[in-house]
Amino acid sequence: MIETDGATGADWTAPGVYRCAPGVYRIPLPLPTDALRAVNVYALVDDENALVLVDSGWALAAARDQLGTALAELGAGLGDVQRFLVTHAHRDHYTLGVELRREFGTKIALGRGEQPALEYLNRPGRQSFAAQQDRLLRAGAGDVLERVVALAPTAPPSTAWDLPDTWLDDGEVLQAGARKLRTLATPGHTRGHVVFHDADADVLFAGDHVLPHITPSIGFEPVPTALPLADFLTSLQLVRELPDARLLPAHGPITDSVHERVDELIAHHDARLAASLSALATTGDTAAEVAAVLAWTRRQRSLAELDPLNQMLAVLETAAHLELLVARGVVSLTEQDGVAHYRA
Ligand SMILES: [Zn+2]
Repeated sequence: MIETDGATGADWTAPGVYRCAPGVYRIPLPLPTDALRAVNVYALVDDENALVLVDSGWALAAARDQLGTALAELGAGLGDVQRFLVTHAHRDHYTLGVELRREFGTKIALGRGEQPALEYLNRPGRQSFAAQQDRLLRAGAGDVLERVVALAPTAPPSTAWDLPDTWLDDGEVLQAGARKLRTLATPGHTRGHVVFHDADADVLFAGDHVLPHITPSIGFEPVPTALPLADFLTSLQLVRELPDARLLPAHGPITDSVHERVDELIAHHDARLAASLSALATTGDTAAEVAAVLAWTRRQRSLAELDPLNQMLAVLETAAHLELLVARGVVSLTEQDGVAHYRA
């Protein structure tokens, strides 16, 4: 049964097909992680049987089945999807599209900025977290590095990261049936992240750039830019300058205002920058030491309470804040034996 999104106040992760705008349906798909339980895929349909999906989900049997069931409600099958427009090259957005393309020849489009990441991920014999290694050591978090590497020492050979058919450029206008979507490059969460704006329908397919309940991780990717947090804040300003639209996020329920959430995210990062700065005055001077005195997640957990993967994200995020303070001239940086030391 197709429900109107948000009408029942139900859990946003509940399997189903939820109508959120004319011809736009939200389809939550499961993820194998506790922290993020689902990813929203959006189906765009029109009278001429165009069927385009924004994001694809994680290549898991359960996600594939759930997508098949949802599309059946819309009178379509997995093989009827013409194109996946993918917001960024993270596993939960990209890999089910790659799997379905192998079977059905579906086309995949992805932001051009993801090219270095995919090339890296396709290197044979690469080690897991090799890309994070230098940054964790520089952050003084060798212990966190050991813990994450112990989880998965080498990356299994994988075809999950096959290249897309099309690289999308900033400003490119895409046609999905009669619908026009404008691609906007929004680097930050990843360097090639894009969002899709449908001005006629007043909706923004925001991927992980603007999420309603959580703040996206910054620069968790194989080949990050020098200042991913600065990129992210600039990208928030970019969508803040668009006319306000309904927020269609990749994780979480849809909400009425992109602007409202962008303002909250900017305020959050201002607060984190201030907290990082004052932590430097009272604690140690590495990113790992600052991360250890900050509170994490909505539940205000300590770094030690997080699992190794989230410890890594927390340390890298703290480093991103400190590096931005350095770039702004508020904090000075010295390096000793490969470890960055910051001083307010
Ligand atoms: Zn995601």
